[in-house]
Amino acid sequence: MNRLLALFVAVVPLGALAVYEGPLFDAHLHYNDDAVGHYSVGAVMELFSKNGVKAIIANSRPNDGTRALVEANRKAPRPGFAVVPFIRVYRDRADYGTWHANPDIAQMIEDEAKRGYYRGVGEFHIFGREAASEVVKRIVNFAASRDLVLHAHCDEAALELLFAHNPQARIIWAHTGFNTPLARVEELFAKYPRLWGELSYRWDVTEGGRLTPEWKAFFTKHAARFLVGSDTWVNQRWQSYPETMGTYRRWLAELPPEAAERIAWKNGAALFGLP
Ligand SMILES: [Zn+2]
Repeated sequence: MNRLLALFVAVVPLGALAVYEGPLFDAHLHYNDDAVGHYSVGAVMELFSKNGVKAIIANSRPNDGTRALVEANRKAPRPGFAVVPFIRVYRDRADYGTWHANPDIAQMIEDEAKRGYYRGVGEFHIFGREAASEVVKRIVNFAASRDLVLHAHCDEAALELLFAHNPQARIIWAHTGFNTPLARVEELFAKYPRLWGELSYRWDVTEGGRLTPEWKAFFTKHAARFLVGSDTWVNQRWQSYPETMGTYRRWLAELPPEAAERIAWKNGAALFGLP
């Protein structure tokens, strides 16, 4: 044992070294045009495999990246690996601020869905009354009618408007609202049984590398309602993909095993009917 390793063993309590070792469902993945040039389809597939990621919610700006992942996994299927494709609402960066009022976007989603393999729509960003628009209503109703899951980065006001359009919608709440108090998240889970919270960028769940007592209790109580994700929205997030997944594996190990399995894999698998 070298000196560095000896020091490591001495200062890190044994329990902190435990990691969740089961499969991961990455419920927030982007394979955008600016990533495609740096990370080939083969390279990202390798990355998933190395990190024990057995399914991904794939979406991209524009949708070409998603199609490339779907097609690659059809041509050369990786056993036990699933691509769950979502239709992105942005064709390019100019769509970010305007999509929710642009009927062309609703039409694009309906046309893209004709490929037959999509399982959802998003991730999209929407705040407050923007969600009340006719275009958003059309998209929510279309998604609900096709059993497509919505992936929404939104505030509480928009979340409630999305469900008001159609209570049959299923919604993954990107980042679980970022700063919504846990008591309020609990109310929303009770009010909307078809709502799931996704956890990318939620560094606040841990403190000093351990789950906070509040989050630990909350995850244990609501284990059926959470998903983990990478949110590879910029290339730096592809670079740090192993660290992102490693962080999840460390805090998942602090939960009762059944809760960890649900959040890591089973909830995503159940949502999309994976084995
Ligand atoms: Zn994202």
